[in-house]
Amino acid sequence: MTGKPLYGALAPAHREHQLQRLPNGDYICDVCEWQWNKKPLPQWDCPEVKRYGWDTAPRYLKTAKQLHRRGLRPTKRRGCYVDLMNQTHYLYDIREARPEANREARRPRAFLFPQARKEKDHDNAN
Ligand SMILES: [Zn+2]
Repeated sequence: MTGKPLYGALAPAHREHQLQRLPNGDYICDVCEWQWNKKPLPQWDCPEVKRYGWDTAPRYLKTAKQLHRRGLRPTKRRGCYVDLMNQTHYLYDIREARPEANREARRPRAFLFPQARKEKDHDNAN
């Protein structure tokens, strides 16, 4: 792998799998380490990180959404999985995640829920 892809105004450059042939005839990509028993279609992008089956990723790898639920933000992509809709979900090491900057701001504050309403002035009713 050489350098990072350059992102311009156009769509990002197509990232081809770096294919090797295994002794049994299967293909494997040097980069994402995914295997195929037929040559993958050339238009299939390589995620450029190790690809896992949807339930085989190590437990310390989480999606950005999973990190967000814990008040963490992702750092570097460490893997990915591809769902049934062929969407790639990147995975991040939870041990490398950082706290979300706005975590404090999102915490509900007591003063938003005043305990006592202002007492209604009693009219001078007599
Ligand atoms: Zn690949």
